[in-house]
Amino acid sequence: MTSLTRLFVLDYGLFQVHENQRVIGIPGFLIQTNTNHNILVDTGFPARYATDPEAEGRTDGLDGFGRILSLSHDNLPAVQLARIGLEAHDITHLIVTHTHIDHIGGWHDFPQATLVIGRAERSLERPLYFGNASRMTWPSHQHEILVDHDLELLPGLHVLFTPGHSPGHLSVLARLPHHTVLLAGDAINRATEPVEGFSGAWDETLAQSSAERLLNLARLENATVIYGHDPEQWKILPKAPNWISPDR
Ligand SMILES: [Zn+2]
Ligand SMILES: [Zn+2]
Repeated sequence: MTSLTRLFVLDYGLFQVHENQRVIGIPGFLIQTNTNHNILVDTGFPARYATDPEAEGRTDGLDGFGRILSLSHDNLPAVQLARIGLEAHDITHLIVTHTHIDHIGGWHDFPQATLVIGRAERSLERPLYFGNASRMTWPSHQHEILVDHDLELLPGLHVLFTPGHSPGHLSVLARLPHHTVLLAGDAINRATEPVEGFSGAWDETLAQSSAERLLNLARLENATVIYGHDPEQWKILPKAPNWISPDR
């Protein structure tokens, strides 16, 4: 029977938010099973940001919000996956937490993977991307799972419908052999967000209730919460080729 074996954090680069100068990591995740599933969660910024981030930031209007601090070729999904010994065609499932620019950049690179995405976002004319810019098209995956409620994608791997930050946001609960990890995604951007409030969310009230639900679930499951972009947590998270172990 299928069960989860390992969860890796992928390092898609560093970004600085102008307001309060917060330095945030851009994460992806790779989850493996004992039956050769490789589930990728999110794909970082578009690869063109690794070439000329300033010009791209201006074009997208992202420069008003913040700037790329570091994002090189090494931070692209293919190179991060190579650290685990994987190639793009090894990816069986691509879970997209939501369609902001820092999560969908590489999603065209995995056409054979089953795309798992919030129905409310996939039904938009364009991906959310950033502000009024939308220089990404929908990918064409042969198989898609459109999510509008919680589902168990594989034994021990739960996709949670957590709208609010965006209309179709998804989080992930992974039951690993000796511990459980909750990938909150931008449903909880950082540890302090539930206290500070969800300003900037697509629907702040919905974001609040999704975050509360996730925190309750984490307590019930005794799960480690990995936030979307927490500056302090990012520094101490082990990155691929290391994997998340029970004491972290
Ligand atoms: Zn977002
Ligand atoms: Zn984000």
